[in-house]
Amino acid sequence: MTAVGDALYAFVERLFPINRSITGPGLRQTLAIIGERIPLEITEIPSGTPVLDWTVPREWTLRDAFIADAAGRRIVDVRASNLHVMGYSTPVDATMRLDELRPHLHSIPEHPTWIPYRTSYYAEAWGFCLADEVLQRMDAGPYRVRIDSTLAAGSLTYGECILPGATDDEVILSAHVCHPSLANDNLSSIAIATFMASELAQREHRYTYRILFAPGTIGAIAWLAQHESALGRIRHGLTLACLGDRGPMTYKRTRRGDTVIDRAAAHVLTRRAPDAGVIDFVPYGSDERQFNSPGFDLPVGALSRTPYRQYSEYHTSADDLDFVSADALEDSLGALRQIVDVLERDRTYTNLAPKGEPQLGRRGLYPVTDGPELARRQLTMLWVLNQSDGAHSLLDVAERSGMTFEELADASAALEAHDLLARDD
Ligand code: ZN
Repeated sequence: MTAVGDALYAFVERLFPINRSITGPGLRQTLAIIGERIPLEITEIPSGTPVLDWTVPREWTLRDAFIADAAGRRIVDVRASNLHVMGYSTPVDATMRLDELRPHLHSIPEHPTWIPYRTSYYAEAWGFCLADEVLQRMDAGPYRVRIDSTLAAGSLTYGECILPGATDDEVILSAHVCHPSLANDNLSSIAIATFMASELAQREHRYTYRILFAPGTIGAIAWLAQHESALGRIRHGLTLACLGDRGPMTYKRTRRGDTVIDRAAAHVLTRRAPDAGVIDFVPYGSDERQFNSPGFDLPVGALSRTPYRQYSEYHTSADDLDFVSADALEDSLGALRQIVDVLERDRTYTNLAPKGEPQLGRRGLYPVTDGPELARRQLTMLWVLNQSDGAHSLLDVAERSGMTFEELADASAALEAHDLLARDD
């Protein structure tokens, strides 16, 4: 572990206890904590506002929830885990037998100690989630059942960090911020997005970066509805989810499948680790679904480690602080940083001495010592010089040559400094 990995982990740890949902105080508190590290513009959209085919729901506030036995002991208590109450549960205050209560109880028999994560955002319902071993021990009752919640007119909140670059062309990075105490899905990615934004805020960049922290589905839909006229500026994008588990990294392609972000992410991930996955687009998953809907068709891929639903801890209490690691978080941030570097440095060049090979030695472009390193460095420069006819980008050259993008970009910078290459833009 290093300082960055530890800091990412500590940020996940700090956000973990907060009870988030798609609206409400936990979401606002989370955005406020992100806003301590990066400049964040907060938008509130009133309940009832139509957004694309959806309507912004009422705001949900939960104060307390429990199931108590005849002796008054809380056998299920939201103070022990935020997951115990189904998200968006309507209020209830009743005494009932187990057979009446049972349809409102959710557990995972295959994992008797885990609590499932359930929500009912768009259908009025209430429910409790509990460990199956607790459910199996419950007698016929009666039980005191209480959910002290409010569903009332309020607003939906999202936050955006906008970092202006040399151009108005945008890169969008998006993380959903609506899950309660689940570490991998999606506090890991909230931490990665926040730290990436913080790094970008401290340096010059070509693109304008927009880092979006919005509740899943409805937040992305609301954001798209409000930014429809500006979507043409988006050149590249990634949704970030599940970036803290110990599995290999995975990139899910855009709907188009062959955009620069698809190629940049595949190039970076497959060279960082042989077990990295690159998978095709499917219209399911995180908010890449909304960005890749046919009416928008934005070049937004999805970056994760083990994808959603492909680990058994997904959407359960086992997605906890032990399930994510500082090393994995740091590795994910490293991969994202490298993908961003490809986007930043990818361009076409024109060879200013295109007739025959320019004499590199005379210009001091070879290191003094001979050996395999020299041969590779020479080959890298020859690839860039040969392909720089204004039609091939550095990423094209990387794919064709088998060299890493970074080597080629460094070679280009050296050739540019010696007036052998000129940028086309
Ligand atoms: Zn989720």
